Amino acid sequence: MVDRFQSRREKLSRLVNRAGAEALLVTNFTNVTYLTGFSGDDSYLLVCRDRAVMLSDSRYTTQLDEECPGLDLEIRPPGTKMVATVAKRVRSARLGRLAIEGDSMPVSLRDRIASELPKVEIVASSGLVEQLREIKDKEEISQIVEAIWYAEKAFGVIRAGLLPEMTEKEISDELAHQLRLCGAAGCSFPSVVAAGHRAALPHATVTEQKIGFSDFVLVDWGADGGLYKSDLTRVLVTGRILLKFKRIYEVVLKAQRKAIDAVRPGALAHDVDLRAREVIAKAGFARYFGHGLGHGLGLEVHEAPRLGIDSKVVLKPGMVVTIEPGIYLPGWGGVRIEDDVLVTRTGRRVLSSVPKEFEEVIVD
Ligand code: ZN
Ligand code: ZN
Repeated sequence: MVDRFQSRREKLSRLVNRAGAEALLVTNFTNVTYLTGFSGDDSYLLVCRDRAVMLSDSRYTTQLDEECPGLDLEIRPPGTKMVATVAKRVRSARLGRLAIEGDSMPVSLRDRIASELPKVEIVASSGLVEQLREIKDKEEISQIVEAIWYAEKAFGVIRAGLLPEMTEKEISDELAHQLRLCGAAGCSFPSVVAAGHRAALPHATVTEQKIGFSDFVLVDWGADGGLYKSDLTRVLVTGRILLKFKRIYEVVLKAQRKAIDAVRPGALAHDVDLRAREVIAKAGFARYFGHGLGHGLGLEVHEAPRLGIDSKVVLKPGMVVTIEPGIYLPGWGGVRIEDDVLVTRTGRRVLSSVPKEFEEVIVD
């Protein structure tokens, strides 16, 4: 029986061939996980035309047997360098052209491999595994849905217990704690909790500022479900309802809705970005939406495809992307609303469900 990992490796092998190489040395640990199910690190996968071998060491033998039964293993003995192990297998497979992952392999590692294998041509490839990872299968989608569930559950607890004297850092720490309590492995990235004018920084780090000093707080958080991740943003009204805030909030929400409605197979990522950008521009905030509309989500919280103004991606069924327009006014604050969306065969399914109507984000 061909398992899902083997079929991924077969697809990859065809891409490697098309890229003009006989084999690919996969050194990006996330890509190794994608191709084998192995959740550890420090291991490389050599993918040849009709076989693949995992290069690892004895710390992982048991885990490898459990997580990837049947996979060909090359366990290097203590004292043997990884590069020597790579060279041994490349020589025994009689490879003439070996592709490496040019996006992530350090130049020094490339040089060491090249000097061990003077007769082998080393070619840098780009995005071969990442391209496969863009399209999620059923199992992956259910793991993303699970990661969203953890994030939503933890957020619900936090929201119910918000107090003006809590600091951004306390809320972020508590969110991490709640994520673990409800079953997640942890956060998919350090949560952003940004009150008032600090919400104008799209990637604000948390401070000891009490949230009660302002009228609203932006929370950007996600769960690590073990392997797959989620990523959400909501802005909560924690003080007075400011007319300016309400106006900006409604613009961002409308922009997000327009973009979500444009998600479907065959749509250009660039056009989906544009749907949101038009709404924001029409309201007079064009220059205050400075980032792309969203990104792919999976084993990593930011992965291909990118949805932006310069994106050449065509959406395909199975892609899971965030849709997260924002308006940021320096010195005043910012609003971003982010949901996780699956491209289906006929359109889209919004996988996340934290309430986002204006009335629903007012904390009493
Ligand atoms: Zn986010
Ligand atoms: Zn995001």
